[in-house]
Amino acid sequence: MTNTDTVDAIGTAIQVKELALAGSEMVRITVNTPEAAAAVPYVREQLDRMGIDVPLIGDFHYNGHRLLTDYPACAQALSKYRINPGNVGKGNKRDMQFGQMIEAAMRWNKVVRIGVNWGSLDQALLASLMDENNARTTPWNARQVMYEALITSALDSARRAEEMGLQRDQIILSCKVSGVQDLISVYRALSKRTDHALHLGLTEAGMGTKGTVASATALSVLLQEGIGDTIRVSLTPQPGEARTQEVVIASEILQSLGLRTFVPSVTACPGCGRTTSTTFQELAKQIDDFLRAQMPVWREQYPGVEGLRVAVMGCIVNGPGESKHADIGISLPGSGEAPAAPVFIDGEKRLTLRGDNIAQEFQVIVENYIEKRFGMQIVAQDS
Ligand code: SF4
Repeated sequence: MTNTDTVDAIGTAIQVKELALAGSEMVRITVNTPEAAAAVPYVREQLDRMGIDVPLIGDFHYNGHRLLTDYPACAQALSKYRINPGNVGKGNKRDMQFGQMIEAAMRWNKVVRIGVNWGSLDQALLASLMDENNARTTPWNARQVMYEALITSALDSARRAEEMGLQRDQIILSCKVSGVQDLISVYRALSKRTDHALHLGLTEAGMGTKGTVASATALSVLLQEGIGDTIRVSLTPQPGEARTQEVVIASEILQSLGLRTFVPSVTACPGCGRTTSTTFQELAKQIDDFLRAQMPVWREQYPGVEGLRVAVMGCIVNGPGESKHADIGISLPGSGEAPAAPVFIDGEKRLTLRGDNIAQEFQVIVENYIEKRFGMQIVAQDS
C-alpha cells in the first residue's frame, strides 16, 4: 500500500510503480476525500503511460459510498474496492451505505475486499455478541468473542453483498489483527466457515525486525496450511527505509515457502571464525542487490531467471558443496586458505578467480550465465 497523499497523482503513481517493480502484483491507495477520488483516474493514467499495468485497489473508510457514487471515473479506474464493515456507517445508515458501495462494484464489475480490522470493529455487532455471550451458561472468554465478531462481520457483509447480486468470486475477505496467535486462530476459524478467497495480513505489525519476523511467522503458518489467496506485509517504515521493503518481505515469505518465485535466490553462509574478512559478506550483498535491481528488466528479457540459484560461500568447509548445489556458486577462501576462489557452474568447477577483482569478475560470470541460459532464443525460420 502506498503512503503518499493520493491527491498528488504523480507522486502516488511513482510510488505505485516502485512497488510494482519490486514485485507487488496489486497496490492499494488511500481514497479518503473528494480530491483523492478525483485524482485516482490520473494516477491510473500516469501508470498506463509508464507501462505499469498493476491493478489499483481503493481503500475506503466512512465516505466510500459517496466517493464511489460521486466520482464514477474513480470507481471505474480502480480494480478493487476495500470496504471496512466497521467504518461504513452507523445505525440505519450502515446497510444503505454498504449497499451503495456494493452497487458501485456491480455497476463497474469490480472486486471488493471486505476487510475487517480489530482496530475498527463494528461496535454494535461486538456489543450484541457480548450480550449473547453473557446469556451463555458457560460464557466464552473475551478473545473468543472478539474472534467471533471479526468473522461474523466479514461473513455477514459478504452475505449481504451476495444477496444484492455481487458474485461470490468478486468478494475477498480479510480479518486482520496485530497478534500472531490471534491472526492464526481467526483465519483458521474463518477458513473453516467459508470458501471465499481470503486476504492475509498481520495489521500494524510494527517496524524492522519485529514487524518482519511477526508477519513472516503468522503468514507462514497459515500459508503452509493452505489458507490465504493474497497477502500483505504491513510494516512501519524505519526512517529512510524504502516503502518497497514490505513487498520484498512479502515476496520472500512466498518464495521461502516454495509457493512463488520472484527473484533469484542467493545462498550465503553466515560466516564464522574460518573467514575473518568481510569479502564474502560484501560479495553476497553485492550479488543480491545486483540481481534484485535487474529484475524489473530481466523479468521480460530473461523468462525464468527468477528461479536462478546463486551461492556465495565463505570457506572450503561448505563452500564447494553448497556451490555445486546452486546453478552458479563461488567458494571464497577462508583464513589461511590459498587466495583462490573456485567458481562452480551447473554443479561443476569451471574456473578459479584470484586477485582484487573477484567481486566484479564473478558478477560478469553471473551475467553471462544468465544471458546464455535465459536469453530469448531467436529461431531462424525457412521463408
Ligand atoms: S562455509 Fe566456512 S566460513 Fe561459512 S560458515 Fe561454514 S565454515 Fe564458516
